[in-house]
Amino acid sequence: MARTFIGYGRQTISDADIAAVVDVLNGEYLTQGPAVERFEAALAERVGARHAVACSNGTAALHLACLAAGLGPGDTALVPTMTFVATANAPIYCGAETQLTDIDSYSRSMTAEDVSSFVRSVGAKAVLPVHFAGLAAAMVDVRAAANGLVVIEDACHALGGAYEDGQLVGSCAHSDMAAFSFHPVKPITSGEGGAVTTNDKDLAQRLRQLRNHGIERDPDRFVDVGDDEPGPWRYQQQMLGFNYRMTDMQAALGLAQLTRLDSFLARRREIAAQYDAVFGGLQNVAVPQADAADRSRSGLHLYQLDIDFAAAGTSRRDLMQTLATAGIGTQVHYIPVHRQPFHRVAALEHGRFPAAEKHYKETLSIPFFPAMTDEDVDFVASEIVRNLT
Ligand SMILES: *Cc1c(COP(=O)(O)O)cnc(C)c1O
Repeated sequence: MARTFIGYGRQTISDADIAAVVDVLNGEYLTQGPAVERFEAALAERVGARHAVACSNGTAALHLACLAAGLGPGDTALVPTMTFVATANAPIYCGAETQLTDIDSYSRSMTAEDVSSFVRSVGAKAVLPVHFAGLAAAMVDVRAAANGLVVIEDACHALGGAYEDGQLVGSCAHSDMAAFSFHPVKPITSGEGGAVTTNDKDLAQRLRQLRNHGIERDPDRFVDVGDDEPGPWRYQQQMLGFNYRMTDMQAALGLAQLTRLDSFLARRREIAAQYDAVFGGLQNVAVPQADAADRSRSGLHLYQLDIDFAAAGTSRRDLMQTLATAGIGTQVHYIPVHRQPFHRVAALEHGRFPAAEKHYKETLSIPFFPAMTDEDVDFVASEIVRNLT
């Protein structure tokens, strides 16, 4: 049988996952219902947070978190330029501004020093550290440096990971809220899906209301509008919200996947070790975030190489094309946000982001997902080695 194409990341779906979705289809609720509640409870429990609010995708989770935090016109949020564009867009959806910042060359997330200087700027309201490739940002220092500003973690890469003090990503031990994505390439999937975790009851309440048009159904929380006839049909739209609901079908898949998160992580660790053994000794190639203690606490979302393409006698484009022909998918995470036309920083000041520019020039994400066999990993590693030396 011909080898199938090995993408850089993909979902791992079991018969039990499929059965869980079919159960919902045979039941009463399709959109947000009891499966969403069960998924939220399981997620909150898994990460050690008091509340989890599920929503339609990770972008919606970031948007909801920024809204719940009260971001609006006149406010500025700090976002690392090395991330998916969704992180940078979320404050702007709220009418606020995004200020981009460079990354730490090891963690590839924002530094506490950059947070310290941002805190003093006019309009500074929130910071959005990204747990890049699964490794949690330096949250203890970021939280301290944020000096009371809202801290929203973009934890889309890092479900199952831990901060440097061992507490779990998503527990919000050092933040107000953490946003997750359940897109198929992420640590677990619900097809599309997202969630925000928090320990703050009021934030959780706002997040729930904002995900459903800003509607409140609990009469105890109605505002007095004077002449309204009381009755079972009553609901109040109290703020401008959205339809960001997750379906029960998605939640059932997410719940089934969540029970497999530990086995996914264990497999990712094995694959990373197999890759590390090959790439650790290779000329013109460096493996980022490879410190053993960091490997063991990382959510291990991506396996990336830093390649000196010129010294290796190739270009990224040629290498990607050659590997694709051999059936191996690779990707670049990410084009820095400051290079996107919409976000383009004035006068193309790429020099303001030297660490992000260096990462962008050298990085390549190679196939990395729990369903890879040892043979897949060997094949990918040997094809890369063959084309670099
Ligand atoms: C995937 C991702 C998002 C967006 O999640 P979606 O579910 O695709 O909307 C945001 N930030 C980061 C860092 C991501 O990787």
